[in-house]
Amino acid sequence: MQQDPPARLLNAAAAVNPRIPGIRSLHSPGPTRVPDAVMHAMQRPMMDLADPRVAALIRACEDGMRALLASRDAHVLFYAANGHGMWEAVTANLSARGRTLLVAGGGHFSDSWAMQTEVLGAATGTTVQRTAHTEGHPIDAAGIEAALREDTGHRIAAVLVVHTDTASGITSDLAAVRRAIDAARHPALFVVDLVASLAAAPFAMDALGVDVAMGASQKGLMCPPGLGYVAINARALAFAEQHAGPRFYWDWVRRVSDLQYKKFCGTPPLAHLAGLEAALQLIEQEGLDRVHARHLRLRNAVLAALARWSDAGAVKPFCRVPAASSASVTAIEVSPGIDPEALRTVARERFQVAIAGGLGPLAGRVFRIGHLGDMNEATILGALAGVEAAMTVQGIAFGTGGVAAAAQALVDATR
Ligand SMILES: *Cc1c(COP(=O)(O)O)cnc(C)c1O
Repeated sequence: MQQDPPARLLNAAAAVNPRIPGIRSLHSPGPTRVPDAVMHAMQRPMMDLADPRVAALIRACEDGMRALLASRDAHVLFYAANGHGMWEAVTANLSARGRTLLVAGGGHFSDSWAMQTEVLGAATGTTVQRTAHTEGHPIDAAGIEAALREDTGHRIAAVLVVHTDTASGITSDLAAVRRAIDAARHPALFVVDLVASLAAAPFAMDALGVDVAMGASQKGLMCPPGLGYVAINARALAFAEQHAGPRFYWDWVRRVSDLQYKKFCGTPPLAHLAGLEAALQLIEQEGLDRVHARHLRLRNAVLAALARWSDAGAVKPFCRVPAASSASVTAIEVSPGIDPEALRTVARERFQVAIAGGLGPLAGRVFRIGHLGDMNEATILGALAGVEAAMTVQGIAFGTGGVAAAAQALVDATR
């Protein structure tokens, strides 16, 4: 039973209350809330590119990212681009005629990555192979191992893995992927998409033997969208050096340089770098272990609420493997007949809580609550209460006591 068509509701809300006081709660899994310290840092005046402060800013971002990625000497390259741009940087540098890129099936984001790589690969004679995936589950490491074992000629140049699939809220086990590559004794590069997981879930580039790690600014890194990063080790750089693709702006070989104009292929995105520097300082001040623990605590609060909501049968966790529930975002499956887009509109326009909808094959089947980035106990409890209120307006049958259960989970976590 749906009430209040979204458009009518929106008009009514605007007519009654053109100014919305207080904080509008952003629980999309990206872009996420940008802390004031990051906003203020981005207002820093522009500098002449020879100003030593520019070099210091770049160095702070590179060093900070290396620390966050737990890599001793990966090259960190920044691009004025979003996550899709970083996918393109990977493909442009790891494509080679007659070679294959193996995309680990893991949901909507790995499908999108594979599709983009297929289009680009067609131009360079690079093929894309995908491993099978079961909906609601993390990546199947055994499927990766089998594909690598079958590839006795070592045509597979790299294995492309999404750490956290943002569409399903599922985090895969990167150590298991590393073991699969090692067990197959395959020299493929290990490439990881950290767009939704870095600074939310633990990651260690060197310890995992990851050759390329890539991501973007607007999720766990708490910056506005528009800055992408790629961290590459010596093996990845060597592959790019040996395979000169049709690339310039994305070219790692050109960018690995002490010269600023080469590093950025032109003018550095100074405002975004200043924001990133501030965000990295916030993470360092809090302590990375505490940042990870906070994300788990907030996730557990959401899962506690969801367990209660599920009692009435109309909503339930989309993730079928509870241990793989991501620290960043929780996807909530709704029964047929419930419109998650209408729920979103009511939550946003009437209760000031912005949540996300379903992507790709999950459109119309789930809504998602983001809990990554600049967030705390109060923001997550407010979001859960707003979602409960919106579900009530929409006549969705949900078990009561969700917010109380979330509060109890937070109490238990801080005892
Ligand atoms: C958001 C996201 C992307 C795409 O990033 P854009 O900045 O929207 O291009 C890629 N991979 C993952 C895992 C994501 O969550």
